[in-house]
Amino acid sequence: MTRIAFIGLGNMGGGMAANQAKAQHHVSAFDLSAVALERAVAAGCHAAGSVAEAVVDAEVVITMLPAGAHVRGVYGDQILVHAPKTALLIDCSTIDVESARAVAGQARAAGFRFADAPVSGGIMAAEAGTLAFMVGCEADDFAAVEAALAPMSRVTIHAGDPGAGQAAKICNNMLLGISMLGTCEAFALAEKLGLAADRFFEIATKSSGQCWSVSTYCPVPGVGPSTPADRQYEGGFATAMMLKDLKLAQDAAARAGASIPMGAQAEALYALFDGNGFGGKDFSAVLQMLRGRLSELN
Ligand code: NAD
Repeated sequence: MTRIAFIGLGNMGGGMAANQAKAQHHVSAFDLSAVALERAVAAGCHAAGSVAEAVVDAEVVITMLPAGAHVRGVYGDQILVHAPKTALLIDCSTIDVESARAVAGQARAAGFRFADAPVSGGIMAAEAGTLAFMVGCEADDFAAVEAALAPMSRVTIHAGDPGAGQAAKICNNMLLGISMLGTCEAFALAEKLGLAADRFFEIATKSSGQCWSVSTYCPVPGVGPSTPADRQYEGGFATAMMLKDLKLAQDAAARAGASIPMGAQAEALYALFDGNGFGGKDFSAVLQMLRGRLSELN
């Protein structure tokens, strides 16, 4: 049994903390939301009254927070002040590379081991304990990080030094955003050309256009394996979340001097879709905007 402090028990963190409790670890949990905290307690976690109380005797501290500002705040003011120096600190939030590197530097200066370990896989994978983790940490720390993440993971990959996990996450999600838009454009064009969607699906999945967005997460309802498209685009990876990740890619590219014109186009298109009031819909619903059938989404 490991003493784990879990901070941030929202859509993702709630299921992740529950899996640590299910694995018989002692999970001291905290969230600003009383509802989220109650849900974690019902799943076997122990409620802490503050971040400080949760981390005070932790062997592992896991955070799953909305964005970089939250992570900087919680680490700077609380975790690095109140956790024992022996604690392994793991941030699983998706945040900007700069914040991840800054927090890693502060943690190291204070004598802690720290890893950024953002995840791929949504709420269902968080609940099922089948997330993919991409980890930025010192090579010597990776085995301990992998072991700590095991109850929540399907696969854990060492991306490189601190910050590399976040770099991998935003590159992967930018690629996903672009490939989904390409997939949607291709299906929209196929439709205009009188090509049946299921025929095009069969051909594209066996041809060089094949990619995850076509074969596993097809944006057309009733085509291919079951996806959010079959559920009115509810319950998948929200457009607002994709937009957040595309903005992180833009910021990172601007700082690094990288040219990502397709990423910029993807951000603009998802911003337009989000601005039409569809931020809560699965990101594959952007198909309906490209088809000129937004009204069918309400
Ligand atoms: P969420 O908003 O549901 O949960 C975040 C939780 O953090 C909330 O419950 C909030 O009350 C809590 N919180 C905020 N500030 C806090 C503080 N100072 N102390 C304690 N708790 C605090 O978000 P989510 O969907 O769980 O996403 C969390 C992270 O995971 C984000 O960075 C997101 O980008 C990433 N992510 C989400 C998904 C997804 O499908 N939802 C998939 C992959 C990665």
